Amino acid sequence: MSFGCTQCGNCCTGPPGYVWVSDDELDALAKLLDLRRDEFVERYAHEVNGRWSLNEVLIDGRYDCVFLEWGEDGKGRCGVYDARPTQCRTWPFWPENLGHPRDWQRASRGCPGINHGRRYTFHEIEIGRDATPAG
Ligand code: SF4
Ligand code: SF4
Repeated sequence: MSFGCTQCGNCCTGPPGYVWVSDDELDALAKLLDLRRDEFVERYAHEVNGRWSLNEVLIDGRYDCVFLEWGEDGKGRCGVYDARPTQCRTWPFWPENLGHPRDWQRASRGCPGINHGRRYTFHEIEIGRDATPAG
């Protein structure tokens, strides 16, 4: 399987969704932004059924992750890339994309990086799959 992000931004926007963040990831994000955890949560996250998810911003009918930044070149960039949550690091090697080739092809319709870029080893894909938090 191959993948190379084109920075189209699709996976960080679209319909409302969840960007799950663990407690450790909250701490890492807060540290990156030089905030206390409670300050970070107040500004950038909300609780959903006992879990944390990053806030979204409604722009032109799309729900952008609060940390998605659009460049003048039209590319989407993560404003917290070095501390982005596991869910973001492991895309597109999520369990729901790996069960069957048609699942991978379905995911590729929204992500132009799928089937392009470098080839990933089975072991790399397994690591991503097993680290992905449940949706
Ligand atoms: S949808 Fe795919 S190609 Fe586009 S930004 Fe996300 S990972 Fe990169
Ligand atoms: S944290 Fe970064 S990579 Fe993850 S959804 Fe938000 S902008 Fe995208």
